[in-house]
Amino acid sequence: MNFLRTIWELFLEALYPSRCPVCNRILPGRKLRICPVCGGSFHLIEEHYCLKCGKPVPEMEEYCVDCKERKREFCQGRGVFLYNMQMKNSLLRYKYYGSREYGRYYAEEIFRHVGTQIKHWKPDVLVPVPMTRRKKRIRGFNQAEDLAEKIGELLQIPVAAGLAVKKKETKSQKKLNAAERMGNLKDAFVITESVQGLKILIVDDVYTTGSTIETLAGCLKESGAGEIYFVTLCIGQL
Ligand SMILES: [Zn+2]
Ligand SMILES: [Zn+2]
Repeated sequence: MNFLRTIWELFLEALYPSRCPVCNRILPGRKLRICPVCGGSFHLIEEHYCLKCGKPVPEMEEYCVDCKERKREFCQGRGVFLYNMQMKNSLLRYKYYGSREYGRYYAEEIFRHVGTQIKHWKPDVLVPVPMTRRKKRIRGFNQAEDLAEKIGELLQIPVAAGLAVKKKETKSQKKLNAAERMGNLKDAFVITESVQGLKILIVDDVYTTGSTIETLAGCLKESGAGEIYFVTLCIGQL
């Protein structure tokens, strides 16, 4: 069976060669996730980040402006890379142009850089940020779910993809202020199973204003969940 699987993988590889998540060139080896030139190209957030949400902050600051201003629904969270142009382009290819193999690289990097932190939080379950069924059908997959499954496998933590469901499409968040964003999202999420006392790690690809994760965290807590943490592949600057 393993032999057949290898043949099948080689066949697929010949048809759809894996590409580098940074420059999109064909990778020279089957085991490689990123090309040798691009290794280390994405901007890692290793120090000077908000102790609450993980956003980059000036050197002497402990918290970002948002986390200083108001109480958060989540306990703590981390984003691995900076959401810059390079990352934006990489995610565009991953989400919309069929470069699904990037997911392996993304998940391994999350595991490598914040795996210890996640283990320290000891979540019972990983919950990907859901998208509506319609959107998932159009896109073909939910990137948050893809990342959660791969991270869950690496960390040996179960993934509950159907636990949170997104019932309705929300307006684009970009032109709304913080309060409007929350209102926009509030009734969109439905929790479908008992989460009583569970420690939950929310997984998503990007954290910008944080309103999506914040709202989902609020819904989970309203349903009785315990501590909520989150991890995202990348996180915006301000
Ligand atoms: Zn490359
Ligand atoms: Zn913060």
